[in-house]
Amino acid sequence: MPSEAVLAETLRTVTALLPLHWKFIQDREGFHALCLSRNNRKNISIQRVVYASFDGAFDIFIHRKELLGSWHDDVLRDLVFVPLNSTSLKVFADNVIQVVNRVRKYEICAGVDLPELADLWPTDNLGKIDENPYDESRYERTFRSHDCAYLVPLQHWRCQGCSRVYHNQTKRKKTALKEELHKNTRNDYLNEDVKRAKFKSLQKDFQNAKRKIDHLQSQVTKLMNQESVPIDNDLSENLTEILRD
Ligand SMILES: [Zn+2]
Repeated sequence: MPSEAVLAETLRTVTALLPLHWKFIQDREGFHALCLSRNNRKNISIQRVVYASFDGAFDIFIHRKELLGSWHDDVLRDLVFVPLNSTSLKVFADNVIQVVNRVRKYEICAGVDLPELADLWPTDNLGKIDENPYDESRYERTFRSHDCAYLVPLQHWRCQGCSRVYHNQTKRKKTALKEELHKNTRNDYLNEDVKRAKFKSLQKDFQNAKRKIDHLQSQVTKLMNQESVPIDNDLSENLTEILRD
């Protein structure tokens, strides 16, 4: 454990160099450099954490998930890790500032943030809905892949994992729209063959209905002329069918 004087000096040095919206606090094994949300001054959340252990190791967390993989390696690249003591204080503090500045070269992955795809989210098991509890500015509500890298370089919008889910959902949406269109296609959009077949089928239905009505009419007329004659089976069936329709 570094001395009180070293801890106080590290806190003072790093705090003076941190960007706006970043805070630096100490615990029993190291320091937390915290990036706070800025949309609501009072109701804040911690969006990123750079944890610097007294022994010189760094851990990075985005939305409480540990950053791993290539972005993690990039953020820590070429740094010389030193345990904190009175002689290494400057290098240690410089490492903290360097890591924080590198993390700031990345933005949060926006996920599949298209509201028109939102109806597919509850049933898509490739990821989960993100209601933006960390108050990010890039999106209001999104769908994040289980493979989300959480960070992307500033000029990118979504990570590779979320891009795959985005393409998958766009494709599914297009297929669903095509099916819907097919079901409700207006006659003036149908080609001649399809139109003819559709009219032929409608004509057949109409003729069948007309034949049934004619038959019933003649049966009813017959009954009216011969009072108290029981309704025959055929007519009874037709009446039931008509009532059901
Ligand atoms: Zn992502």
